[in-house]
Amino acid sequence: MKLTVLEDNNTYIDMYYLGEPAVSYFIEDGGTSILFDTGYSDAYIANARTLGIDLDSIDRIVLSHGHNDHSGGLRYLDKHGIKLITHPDTFNYKFHEGLDISSPLNMDDVSRIYDLNLSKEPVQISDNIFFLGEIPVFFDFEKRYALGKTRKDNQMIDDYLYDDSAIVYRSDKGLFMISGCSHSGICNIMEYAKKVCNDERIYGVIGGYHLFNVDERLRKTIRYFKNNKVELIYPCHCVSLAAKIEMGKALDIKEVGVGLVLDI
Ligand SMILES: [Zn+2]
Ligand SMILES: [Zn+2]
Repeated sequence: MKLTVLEDNNTYIDMYYLGEPAVSYFIEDGGTSILFDTGYSDAYIANARTLGIDLDSIDRIVLSHGHNDHSGGLRYLDKHGIKLITHPDTFNYKFHEGLDISSPLNMDDVSRIYDLNLSKEPVQISDNIFFLGEIPVFFDFEKRYALGKTRKDNQMIDDYLYDDSAIVYRSDKGLFMISGCSHSGICNIMEYAKKVCNDERIYGVIGGYHLFNVDERLRKTIRYFKNNKVELIYPCHCVSLAAKIEMGKALDIKEVGVGLVLDI
């Protein structure tokens, strides 16, 4: 599996890609090309061009969840008729602190453009990559909490982000997780991936871990990484500097930026 970071908050010195607080990865596994999240703007398209990646070649789009730092770039993608895999709540209206943070394309728009596979259950998307669907809660320190409001069945309700999911690659060395924002909890995601793939070994994780404060949640997350002997740890997007420093004391964490290529 080859993963190229098309969009991230960080850019590397002397590499002139466009950064923004968002996520987009281009993933190739066997003969399948997957676009995982689409960033906030069209910057991922410009970066793909500079990196020599032809987005016309993608066979599948996967959205980790509906927030516009992951779905915003959809409106710039000129690619129709392919499969788009995500949770059924992804395209619901979402509102937080006075801002519309939903996908710019609503359910009517995407159902016209894409072959939708909206699933709460895991979905196999290539030889060894699975979309996890809705993530159950395994750990008390990663209970769901509301972030803004969402419209469901014509009612505005607290948004517990049930749409937030991730994908997992089944490698020879164990599971490699690719997350968007991990609103569902990065440890919950890893624990669920073990069950879906029937493999207890976690080889690595790239993506947003949703860790900001140096607190009990962070300490328990670090312990989970240690207990599971996770080798490749790439925290990015929604992980604060303070959280990275704390993780770095106990774990061998790696830097992520636009243009990073991982061959797993
Ligand atoms: Zn989010
Ligand atoms: Zn995000």
